Amino acid sequence: MKRIKARSYFVEFKQKGFSKLEKLIENNDYSSVFILVDSNTLEYCVPLFKNKIIQSLKFQILSVSPGEEFKTITSCQKIWQSLSDKGADKKSLIINLGGGVITDMGGFIASTYKRGIEFVNVPTTLLSMVDASIGGKTGIDFGDIKNQIGLISDPILVIIESDFLKTLSHKEYRSGYSEMLKHGLISDKDYWNTLSDFLKKDNKDILPFIHKSIEIKNKVVLKDPFEKNERKILNFGHTIGHAIESYFIKSNHLEKLSHGEAIAIGMIVEASISVDNYSLKQSDADEIKDIFDSIFSKIKIDVLDQKKIISIIKFDKKIVMEILILFYSNQLVFP
Ligand code: NAD
Repeated sequence: MKRIKARSYFVEFKQKGFSKLEKLIENNDYSSVFILVDSNTLEYCVPLFKNKIIQSLKFQILSVSPGEEFKTITSCQKIWQSLSDKGADKKSLIINLGGGVITDMGGFIASTYKRGIEFVNVPTTLLSMVDASIGGKTGIDFGDIKNQIGLISDPILVIIESDFLKTLSHKEYRSGYSEMLKHGLISDKDYWNTLSDFLKKDNKDILPFIHKSIEIKNKVVLKDPFEKNERKILNFGHTIGHAIESYFIKSNHLEKLSHGEAIAIGMIVEASISVDNYSLKQSDADEIKDIFDSIFSKIKIDVLDQKKIISIIKFDKKIVMEILILFYSNQLVFP
């Protein structure tokens, strides 16, 4: 699989990525190497990671609790404290081994510790491979708002190893499909069609699709790394999806939603708004809904919950809502 050139770093695939990491560590003479994990990636991904790298590579583990509810300043404080206690300095390296929560939060922790130390992303969920680990957005949630605190800061290397996906639950695996389908919707109708067909079958060599999704995201990020313009298209489904995700985390009467499930609802609703207010055809919005319906089970949100979600949307850092909807409806690949 051909490596992908991102802004200041490469996305490397499979064993070549681990060889590149070994070279980086050898050439940069780091004072210490840390691996940030959550308790699941500690159990499932650290053993595989160890198998992929030379035995002589020494590292220390930093662990947080798993899940979006721990993407917080409290988790960061715990890790900053451990880094200080273990003598991490400007020449230390952090390897983020985990899903999007770990790559987002680990990137933020590294970029702020001692005004910034280098970090590598080794994503272990489909969602973090195709999306979260690429593009430099790092951060944490604050109050009810997702990704409220953070900065844009690039890793020095991203390694894609699809073998990590073997231990991922079905729910978390499917979660990644949402962002991949979004890549098709915002830029490439052929990709949308091929990926939709692929997901309906039981044919699971997903690596070429991971590569394609990263290429699409990377192309957008290269044009507009700081989200002044074009990059906003990657937020399709997220204004509504993030509010739903935050609300479901805080409400104990609702079931747990994956990031991808929340974003899928966001895309269905935003497509529908685009039909009512702009030029998206009803048949295209129906097709979007049908594909997501075929992947995810239905989630019911009653009127009272909907009102509360709308109040969260009002605080979203991404909106002016109308501008985004206009933007999406003009950019969606459906003619
Ligand atoms: P996650 O990191 O919470 O991972 C989901 C679950 O899978 C967790 O319980 C985790 O412990 C477990 N897990 C991870 N890898 C595993 C493996 N190989 N085997 C078994 N279990 C494993 O969530 P996610 O869906 O990967 O990422 C969602 C996050 O990504 C959200 O916080 C979202 O805001 C963020 N995100 C960021 C960007 C960005 O551009 N920075 C883009 C999209 C999403």
